Amino acid sequence: MNWAKGHEKCKSCGTTEHKHKARGLCASCYDAATEKRQKSHVTRRMGSHLPIHITKEDLEQKYNSGLSLNDIARQYNCTRQYIYKLMAQYKIARRTMSEARSLALQQGKISYSSNVLSPGKTITHEKRHVNESFFKSWTPAMAWVLGAIYTDGCLTASLRPRGQSKSAKLGKLRLREQVVLANHGDVTAQFYLAAMYKHGVQALKWYILAAEGGDELAVVARDELSRKMTPDQIADARQRAREWAPQEKQADTVFRRFKIDQKEPELLEKVRAQIGSNALIRFRGKRGVAGALHTLSIDNATVCADLRQLGVTPRKSLTITFPPMPPHLVRHFIRGCWDGDGSVYWEGNDIYIVHASYVSGSKDFIEQLMRHLVDLGLPDRTIYKSTRSKNPSYYFRYSGLPCIKLYHVLYDGVDESMYLARKHDRFKAFVGYYERQGSQAQHRPRPVSYRPRPVSSVRSVKGRLQEIRASKAALINELKSYAHSKSPQSGMSEEED
Ligand SMILES: [Zn+2]
Repeated sequence: MNWAKGHEKCKSCGTTEHKHKARGLCASCYDAATEKRQKSHVTRRMGSHLPIHITKEDLEQKYNSGLSLNDIARQYNCTRQYIYKLMAQYKIARRTMSEARSLALQQGKISYSSNVLSPGKTITHEKRHVNESFFKSWTPAMAWVLGAIYTDGCLTASLRPRGQSKSAKLGKLRLREQVVLANHGDVTAQFYLAAMYKHGVQALKWYILAAEGGDELAVVARDELSRKMTPDQIADARQRAREWAPQEKQADTVFRRFKIDQKEPELLEKVRAQIGSNALIRFRGKRGVAGALHTLSIDNATVCADLRQLGVTPRKSLTITFPPMPPHLVRHFIRGCWDGDGSVYWEGNDIYIVHASYVSGSKDFIEQLMRHLVDLGLPDRTIYKSTRSKNPSYYFRYSGLPCIKLYHVLYDGVDESMYLARKHDRFKAFVGYYERQGSQAQHRPRPVSYRPRPVSSVRSVKGRLQEIRASKAALINELKSYAHSKSPQSGMSEEED
């Protein structure tokens, strides 16, 4: 086994006995390198007097102009530590760590290069931003993004609003904080705890709770783990999950991050563009039972507070209700939901048998959704309860002609930047085909007639029918190859969440 990822031994002293600290260096070499970096610019003899006296005014002016302690130290040919000491003596207020970090990011100072992670490249960190007023007023784009967040998004809480702990600053939560959050009912934290326990009754208990909270990965993990456990253990874990009750939330719980998970990055890229952010979309490959996922996460307390106001809850799937909104934006919101949890598919790849279905863990939400669809002119449909998994889910579907109406309701006059192309294209393939047929049918001579017709006329009807058959076959072929290229694992009818 390697000493560290990408390194056989310490780059500097060649040891493997001491632990790796960073950048291929052991702890003592790393500290020595840091010391050197901070002092190497000093050319005068150590201990000699400074050539220039540093006044309070000079120091204050330079510091407030945006120079760091290190920058100033370089100018005065002294160490950063000396400047730090002077600042304290002169009682000049220093920036907080987060202010200093933001400033350094703006100045492009924070960069790294790694032969392991990014060979041959230097990566400069950027200041991440987001349009903080995006969720403050209703627009079609905002309604669409909100729909996507309602179905596939998730709010993450932080217990420390001012982020005193180092781990909180890094956006990570300590185990203790995860435990507190899990006990408050935070699904992400529950999943994290379960994954940490990995095996046994405790792991299963937290997977059960996270799954009940609507975490889709937890459902898979729970079923997977159950298969490896004895019936007694499973019963024990179920019992503990039943006895568990969420603790009262502390007053200072603040939501600072929301994230959206998707199997494909397209929706995330479009959402990111809409909310005016440059946040990274991270990819995590398949790991154990958890599938590969793309994740967009936005760290911004203002945006999270707005989302909370708009009804996004941390335990989302089971508790969400349809938010009130201006009537003309409902269709945009529904399109966002459909891009998240809806699907459109052909049965056996036959263009004639198209279905559009919607699944939700919340009965309340799906009932309200149906009511809104009826208001928008769609026919009423029965909502079915699926009991395939322990948590019931609810679904309905439209087949055939109502899908055309649904297509127009969801997509008419909507820019590509506000929908998931894959679902739109599938709808459109059916609608386009049907409507082409419909317009031809109006001009087509009726094939059945009581009067005997001249031979030429019969031939032309036959020719037209052949033409239609050929175009149908061509379209189906096109769709088959389309469906195949989009999802190599299923050649037959497909449906996704
Ligand atoms: Zn070393």
